[in-house]
Amino acid sequence: MKLQEIGEFGLIDKLSEGCLHKENHVIRAIGDDAAVFIQSAGEVVLVTTDMLVERVHFLRNATTGFNLGYKALAVNLSDIAAMGASAREAFVSIAIPEDCSVEFIEDMYKGIKYLAASFQVNLLGGDTTASPKDLVINVVVVGSAPQEEILYRDGAKNKDLIYCTGYLGDSRAGCHLIVNGIKTESDGLKALKNAHLIPRPMLMEGKFLGGFGGVHAAIDISDGLSSDLGHILKQSRVGAKIYAEKMPISENLKIFCKQFNLDPVKYAVDGGEDYVLLFTVSPDRAQKLYKKYHEIFEFPLFEIGEINDSDQLVLEFPNGKTEQILPTGWNHFKKT
Ligand code: ADP
Ligand code: MG
Repeated sequence: MKLQEIGEFGLIDKLSEGCLHKENHVIRAIGDDAAVFIQSAGEVVLVTTDMLVERVHFLRNATTGFNLGYKALAVNLSDIAAMGASAREAFVSIAIPEDCSVEFIEDMYKGIKYLAASFQVNLLGGDTTASPKDLVINVVVVGSAPQEEILYRDGAKNKDLIYCTGYLGDSRAGCHLIVNGIKTESDGLKALKNAHLIPRPMLMEGKFLGGFGGVHAAIDISDGLSSDLGHILKQSRVGAKIYAEKMPISENLKIFCKQFNLDPVKYAVDGGEDYVLLFTVSPDRAQKLYKKYHEIFEFPLFEIGEINDSDQLVLEFPNGKTEQILPTGWNHFKKT
């Protein structure tokens, strides 16, 4: 169906069904000039926004509407997770080109609503406009948390241990398979594609880390370990050493790297869009945290290195050789 047939308001009507998942605190949802909701008592508000632009972040003919919508919300939820907070409401704005069908947009909202439902996030509004050529999707997420539980990038301290909540490099490998149209028969390679297409935002994990005590700094891996750990180091005015043999590399990534003759450690260190959490914790809290986390989430944390008082990020190999790591992750306006 063409958008011309139903127009902006017809589309909004179609999209505004099934948007509420936790509505006790919602006074006005989609349909007025602004949404109105009650903030949880004793908590502060967090707001994050991320925009996906066709041909910059995705290729419309290489994704499904569902996956695109899912991911647009997922990357925002991941930012809230990285702050140790809970996600509450979402707002979605779209600029739609003429050659994009109503069905594609509806499919996109299926992806958004699927993920929103699984984390009980309400979709409370947005904006809809025409676009001359490319599809643009912008999501805003509102979160909340007790102020003292929020995790910032600038809190890392000398001697903190550095942990990751999941594998690194899988999403980059999946992206490589997708962009190059490489057929994936095996479950392992399919899992890499899924790591790129439908990453699970680690909201429960982030909330746990914020509430545990002793976690000093956190960020989600969007641009790659080298860049994102780099942000923590720069903002906290510290350095770090990470260990090659401790990099969380999945069996799937090992197989992929063997097949394409790549170094899995380098691939994991520079890979982006894994949306796992990276955090630093006081050494005297680390063991307890590790144990409790494992109990709750039935998945281990990966200790990858430690913070020091240098001003560098260094990767150490098992033979004792070291290499300084410079941020090589994605940077939109930087020419390399
Ligand atoms: P206004 O003219 O005040 O901007 P709109 O006609 O754009 O109002 O929007 C009407 C309602 O529909 C508002 O509640 C708005 O938040 C919601 N809305 C518009 N576009 C979207 C969208 N793409 N997704 C979700 N809600 C939307
Ligand atoms: Mg509007």
